[in-house]
Amino acid sequence: MSPAMTDITDTHCPYCALQCAMGLARTGDGEDGSNGAGDGSGLRVVERGALCGKGATATAVLRPGTRLTQPLVRGADGELAPAGWDEALERVARGLSGTRQRYGADAVAVFGGGGLTNEKAYALGKFARLVLGTSQIDYNGRFCMSSAAAAGNRAFGLDRGLPFPLEDIPRTGCIILVGANPAETMPPALRYFTELRANGGTLIVIDPRRTRTAEQADLHLAPRPGTDLALALGLLHLVVAGGRVDEAFVAERTSGWEGARAEAMAHWPELVERITGVPVPRLREAVELFCAPQAAMVLTARGPEQQAKGTDTVGAWINLCLATGRAGRPYSGYGCLTGQGNGQGGREHGQKADQLPGYRMLTDPAARAHVAGVWGVDPAVLPGPGRSAYELLDALGDPSPAGIRALLLMGSNPVVSAPRAAHIEDRMRSLDFLAVCDVVLSESARLADVVLPVTQWAEETGTMTNLEGRVQLRRRAVDPPPGCRSDLAVLRGLARRLGWAGWERGFPEEPAEVFAELRRASAGGVADYAGISYERIAAEGGVFWPCPAEDHPGTPRLFLDRFATPDGRARFAAAGHRPAAEEPDAEYPVLLTTGRVLAQYQSGAQTRRVAELNAAAPGPFVQVHPRLAERIGAAEGDRLAVVSRRGRAVAPARISTAIRPDTVFMPFHWPGEGRANTLTNPALDPASRMPEFKVCAVRVERAEPV
Ligand code: SF4
Repeated sequence: MSPAMTDITDTHCPYCALQCAMGLARTGDGEDGSNGAGDGSGLRVVERGALCGKGATATAVLRPGTRLTQPLVRGADGELAPAGWDEALERVARGLSGTRQRYGADAVAVFGGGGLTNEKAYALGKFARLVLGTSQIDYNGRFCMSSAAAAGNRAFGLDRGLPFPLEDIPRTGCIILVGANPAETMPPALRYFTELRANGGTLIVIDPRRTRTAEQADLHLAPRPGTDLALALGLLHLVVAGGRVDEAFVAERTSGWEGARAEAMAHWPELVERITGVPVPRLREAVELFCAPQAAMVLTARGPEQQAKGTDTVGAWINLCLATGRAGRPYSGYGCLTGQGNGQGGREHGQKADQLPGYRMLTDPAARAHVAGVWGVDPAVLPGPGRSAYELLDALGDPSPAGIRALLLMGSNPVVSAPRAAHIEDRMRSLDFLAVCDVVLSESARLADVVLPVTQWAEETGTMTNLEGRVQLRRRAVDPPPGCRSDLAVLRGLARRLGWAGWERGFPEEPAEVFAELRRASAGGVADYAGISYERIAAEGGVFWPCPAEDHPGTPRLFLDRFATPDGRARFAAAGHRPAAEEPDAEYPVLLTTGRVLAQYQSGAQTRRVAELNAAAPGPFVQVHPRLAERIGAAEGDRLAVVSRRGRAVAPARISTAIRPDTVFMPFHWPGEGRANTLTNPALDPASRMPEFKVCAVRVERAEPV
């Protein structure tokens, strides 16, 4: 019998940056598991377009048995035990204030997440800088798109994932997808690429693995991990040598071409073939496809970005767009496919170590004065920039005066998702005090002194900014369980208990009130939300920033007239190839690259709790080429140990010709012995501070049977 639906709430998926629209139907019988979803959540998903399996099953995480519904406090026996909210908040306030009094404000840190709503990201940054007075705040988005952000800011003077709407993709002539696998990470987006090809356009995929996305490409190039920069330089070399530079565009709309040109000419095709393993004829084919149409795009994701030279690597791909006049024109340009649900908005409102709301820089006196004015404080009280995400996590428990002794973690699970994860787990265990706000008892929450159970997507209202820079409204569809409170309520409660005089007006619990203040704080900034309201989003289905006034239409397409640099010109960046921070040697002769699979999301804290998703992707694996498998005597399903300078991970072999013989791949969604991030290298990009997740040297051998 179909459930009695009382109403449908239009909202968006809780997971990735595509932020697909969905309806949530209330079935009214959530407790007994007999509703339409069959998951006991009291809601079922109604499609409003395409959803992937993660979105279609998202209500399962709302189920009382799946998520936390009561605060947990670690007792004298060392165990986490249920507690009341007053006791839990008092304990957090004592833990944070006691540390601050003993060791200073910067001994207390805050770590946020790219899945938090804009309102929460904004409130968290304000809480850290005003209530705690600490400079030590960053978030897990640093591990996601920071290299693309740094390269975009450098080239265009502005960072927005896509400077055009997704609907432009089928209208271009050729797309180079670099290190992106939307067929698994955001499957509904694949239709834009399918439409592109149906319209006569071409798709080039660059990935060391023949992924599901690569299988649909007109041309797949499989470079050695860590050599995407050389590949881009090689293509630019061929563009120059073939007389395909758009000289008029370069002269009128760019600066710095000579340096970039010189670097490209130093990377001739045969050299690039030796570095990347991509044959020269394939390089020529890629240039032909890219240069033939009037319009073309380059889209990057984590492959080129999560490298210790990620900013320069993305910059080299931007150079290719600029030299061929494929930027700042309709249906052309460079874009980044952001990963996390609010990967875009999460970096705009002040939870980054170096930024204030509106994508303002913390070191800019005018920016400090503006935001301090909105917050009603003297600019002098705002701390300066703090450590980046990995550096912050690495300083946890450090007993030196520069160390961090207490941490408030909100919406992140670094025990699984941080590089060199065993070390970071040790650092978290050595803290004097750890408080975690989360929906589930994640691997990081298990280490906490206090766990605060917070409300989640369908239980609260808030805005999310998707990968296009489109601000959307996630609406509350169901009441949260009685034992849960919103992150905003937690910050308000802590501000009061920590004695911050302005807590009552400064930390409202109502998301709409926070958004109203966010609009004022962002006004005049790069990411200007001043003209965006919940009402407008509801009426228009989303509004693109910048939108400086209520009568402004928003800005779906950027840079058509000028780039956002002081002189209006896009800037070439000159950088040559250099090796990965860790190259194979006799002891560690194989390359490891990591990524995601279709049925899991990020650290898996939510998706590992969904039966259908677990059935589809039950655990980690090591994708290995048959030649490498033969060399180590491994058969399909054998347990393989992958060993790097940082540790050892064990998972079953999945033998496939879809990966290079010199490389193995592991997905990073799982904790325990198969935790891929035990192995990854925290070598940092000097500009973005992005760790080198995508390439490190490992040894692969058969592991002992269980
Ligand atoms: Fe959700 Fe992303 Fe899947 Fe869309 S593609 S349903 S936003 S996880």
